[in-house]
Amino acid sequence: MFQNARIKLTAWYLLIIMMISLSFSTVIYRLATNEVERFARFQRAKIERQITEENPFLQELRKQNVMVQFPASDPELMKEIRHRLLFILIYINAAIVVLAGGLGYILAGKTLKPIQDMLDEQNRFITDASHELRTPLTALKSSLEVHARDKNLSLRNAKTVIKNSIDEVNTLQALSDKLLVLAQYQNGHTIPMDYVSISDILTKSIQKIQPLAKQKTIVIKIKKETSPLRVKAHMDELIDLFVILLDNAVKYSPKRSIVAIQSEKTDGSVKISVQDEGIGIKENDLPHIFDRFYRADTSRRKQNANGYGLGLSIAKRIVEQHHGTITVESAPSKGSIFTVQLPIK
Ligand code: ADP
Repeated sequence: MFQNARIKLTAWYLLIIMMISLSFSTVIYRLATNEVERFARFQRAKIERQITEENPFLQELRKQNVMVQFPASDPELMKEIRHRLLFILIYINAAIVVLAGGLGYILAGKTLKPIQDMLDEQNRFITDASHELRTPLTALKSSLEVHARDKNLSLRNAKTVIKNSIDEVNTLQALSDKLLVLAQYQNGHTIPMDYVSISDILTKSIQKIQPLAKQKTIVIKIKKETSPLRVKAHMDELIDLFVILLDNAVKYSPKRSIVAIQSEKTDGSVKISVQDEGIGIKENDLPHIFDRFYRADTSRRKQNANGYGLGLSIAKRIVEQHHGTITVESAPSKGSIFTVQLPIK
């Protein structure tokens, strides 16, 4: 498909360039032949005048108003000039076809590349999403089919099956909600931005995570800023970002541990870090944790740390929307530090 579109676009580029080039060539041909004819007429008149002035016999004839016929300019020469001009213009146009074709092909490739990348990304997204949805759906379907075939299924067991199925459906619903959020960020929608207070954002994010932290007796500490920090951002999106980071920090930390948030101003930007004392991330997992659906083995095995591997990819998109960066430092059993850097303007 990409190749077809590229060839079509090249053909369009070529058609436009050739139309312009041929129109110019026609104009040049007309102008040049007219100019050559005018020049020939002018030269002929000049030569006639010279010959007449230098020849007393011709002067005498002129005085007597006798018309002297000079030979006409060589029509063969004029024809040859026209032919040569035509040949040069055809040659130039042929060179333009080759050059414009090659350049057009390269340009068409460059023009279509971002569209192709976007389509590839969308296809990958659809494949990943359907793969993630398929596994729990198949499990749910098999379980329902097995119980539906069970003639001895008691009302009590049937209720348990329904309850478990509702839990599964809720999980699937949460997954599809997250997928929708991610799809929204993938589309690169433009967001209205305003100056927002980092301290407000962090307070609101902590409020959302507090119930989860309380369940595990985890204390979220926030280091007071020396001066109020503000960045140009979308408030709700930044709250989503810090909720994801705090949720992970709480999810992957042992009970009665501490999650510390620190923010500071650096050159033209604000740096906010979320540090935990949790399970940490293995070195070989670190390059992948921002990938869609990626979950390190340790967190997959941890029954209570449920998730879909979408949080950090959403976080990364939010940071990118704000032209910032997100980095991580982590080691197994030593905890993790996620650092977000956002430009002030
Ligand atoms: P989820 O948490 O839903 O699995 P995320 O995209 O938020 O998905 O995170 C991807 C993976 O990165 C997690 O599965 C986990 O292995 C790892 N991770 C993220 N944050 C932390 C953290 N604070 N401590 C340890 N591991 C983390």
